[in-house]
Amino acid sequence: MGSIEVIQGDITKLNVDAIVNAANESLLGGGGVDGAIHDAAGEELLDECRKIGGCPTGEARITKGYLLPVKFIIHTVGPIWNGGYKDEIDLLRSAYQNSLKLASSHGVETIAFPNISTGVYGFPKKSAVEIAVNAVRGYISKNALPKKVIFVCFDEENYEIYREKIIQK
Ligand code: ADP
Repeated sequence: MGSIEVIQGDITKLNVDAIVNAANESLLGGGGVDGAIHDAAGEELLDECRKIGGCPTGEARITKGYLLPVKFIIHTVGPIWNGGYKDEIDLLRSAYQNSLKLASSHGVETIAFPNISTGVYGFPKKSAVEIAVNAVRGYISKNALPKKVIFVCFDEENYEIYREKIIQK
């Protein structure tokens, strides 16, 4: 079975096969981690995203990594938190599962996720971590790839929440 790791840092600096972008439905870039990934990957990423033509919430799309040291960027759209009344839990779980499926089908061994939906999309952090870790554990227990999943936390608070969840198992 694959392994899970939690680190604190900037996802654009990682040397892994694939990083996941917390994108929006347009796939044309935005703030937060999305902006950081587009800035670091360069204009050609935006060109490829434009050709894809968007991505519904809960789904995922794959592009090349361009100026980043990764083979692939997997763009997934997490839900905007709406009090829990708009299927947000299932949609967040789907965002993780669909990203992992794309990773497997492209031979990705190591993949890094940001804390999808917990920035401007306002998803409560503890529930988001619960969903993320359970979705990843469920997936890697049944699939040979990816072999390693890294949760990348930008801020200390997320880092502590993830560490607690991973350590308690
Ligand atoms: P969303 O719209 O899905 O909420 P955000 O980009 O606003 O996306 O936030 C998602 C998470 O990504 C937040 O926890 C934020 O702190 C984190 N984040 C922002 N920049 C980076 C980065 N360079 N590397 C890793 N995580 C980041």
